[in-house]
Amino acid sequence: MQLTANLASKLFGEMTQSCVLCGNSCSNNICLCNACLQELPIIEHGCKTCGLPMQIENTQCGQCISNTPPISHCISLMSYVPPIDHLIQNMKYHNQLAIADLLGQLLADKIIKADLPLPEQIIPIPLHISRLQRRGFNQSVEIARPLSKKLNIPLNLTDCSRVRATSPQFNLSIQERAGNMQNAFEVLRSLNVKHVAIIDDVMTTGSTVWEFARVLKKAGIETIDVWTCARATIN
Ligand SMILES: [Zn+2]
Ligand SMILES: [Zn+2]
Repeated sequence: MQLTANLASKLFGEMTQSCVLCGNSCSNNICLCNACLQELPIIEHGCKTCGLPMQIENTQCGQCISNTPPISHCISLMSYVPPIDHLIQNMKYHNQLAIADLLGQLLADKIIKADLPLPEQIIPIPLHISRLQRRGFNQSVEIARPLSKKLNIPLNLTDCSRVRATSPQFNLSIQERAGNMQNAFEVLRSLNVKHVAIIDDVMTTGSTVWEFARVLKKAGIETIDVWTCARATIN
């Protein structure tokens, strides 16, 4: 029987994965070749509380200064621009979970580099049961798994829930997005920790993570960080 390179690598564990962006073979342990890795739209300096790209580190954007979100530190890995938008859409809508693993690994490296106090728990933004059943997985959970492993911080997948099915945010205005998220989340039982990090795949206006953070604060969490793979902006 003749084995294709791909099948052989699956069977024998050889490092012949292909890059999720260009398709070339890559020899590192993530599915991204070194050339594509160099080209990623990494956010070098992000607003301390919303991750918006800034000129200098550890500052806040104008919006956060006038209306500070309930977040201690927001770390967004990349700008939501090509090819990252397609990459994240492929992960979500074409079940490409290897991409979630890759994004989680890259995000973990960025968090290690940031050298901030680490949380006691990682909480991926919960999906409503109806969307979870349709998609089959929660992308934020899949991104959080490699993060949890690399940073050695437990995941909390059971104590928070999305109790209201919300409309997709992408076709709503900034005001509609905030209203759409109201009372979407619930903390089901006492968390017994003081510092957590929320994980989301893409953050746009922040209305989703801020509403979730508001509910966590009400449940007694004192310090909330937000870690996202991509930061989008709407005009
Ligand atoms: Zn590549
Ligand atoms: Zn900001």
